[in-house]
Amino acid sequence: MSEYVFTPPAVVGLPVVGSQAKFAVRHVYCVGRNYVEHAKEMGFTGREEPFFFSKPADALVYVASGTQGDIHYPPKTSNLHYEMELVVALGKGGRDIPVEKANECIFGYALGLDMTRRDLQGECKKLGRPWEVGKAFDESGPIGPIHPVDKTGVIDQGAITLAVNGQMKQNSNLDKLIWSIPESISFLSSLFELKAGDLIFTGTPEGVGPVVAGDQMVGTFDGLGELKVRVV
Ligand code: MN
Repeated sequence: MSEYVFTPPAVVGLPVVGSQAKFAVRHVYCVGRNYVEHAKEMGFTGREEPFFFSKPADALVYVASGTQGDIHYPPKTSNLHYEMELVVALGKGGRDIPVEKANECIFGYALGLDMTRRDLQGECKKLGRPWEVGKAFDESGPIGPIHPVDKTGVIDQGAITLAVNGQMKQNSNLDKLIWSIPESISFLSSLFELKAGDLIFTGTPEGVGPVVAGDQMVGTFDGLGELKVRVV
């Protein structure tokens, strides 16, 4: 007799550049409104504290470097937005991690898209409801391979861009984060016990906007190559 009443879902594993072993994903955290100019375009001053939400690990869609991945235009929206983000992958965690120790938890970095049903998210905000339907839907997290920090070094700045159909839409720098990566890790660890396998989408710069079926998105971060995704 099987131990489970149905076959348990597979572990979500992301390839690691330069390794045969995959990175097993546990929890996917996302930082909201973490670039001043993006906070402003969303109707805020840019001085509010960032905050957190989550996506399920199986909402990730892995896209290998040098290839193009597909995501399906999701149901119940007519305003699907891209948000290009640098993703931090944790190799260890803890509770109440001091800012000065936070970089020691980093296993590596990846390019990610925090796809958003902006119309549903807007309704949630208006009605004071949770954001799941706007943020945590199927295929809402296209992501590239993990680049280990051993190879990249600790990243605290670098250009982040996104083009749609060859036209630049987002173009900023990680040094414009309101909360730096170590500060985000430290703050998150005061709310949740972080563990190896956790991912943190660190927030998107200004220039978010809609995509429709047929559009191609190409996101880049300095030194991490590109993430190419088509909406079908
Ligand atoms: Mn985001």
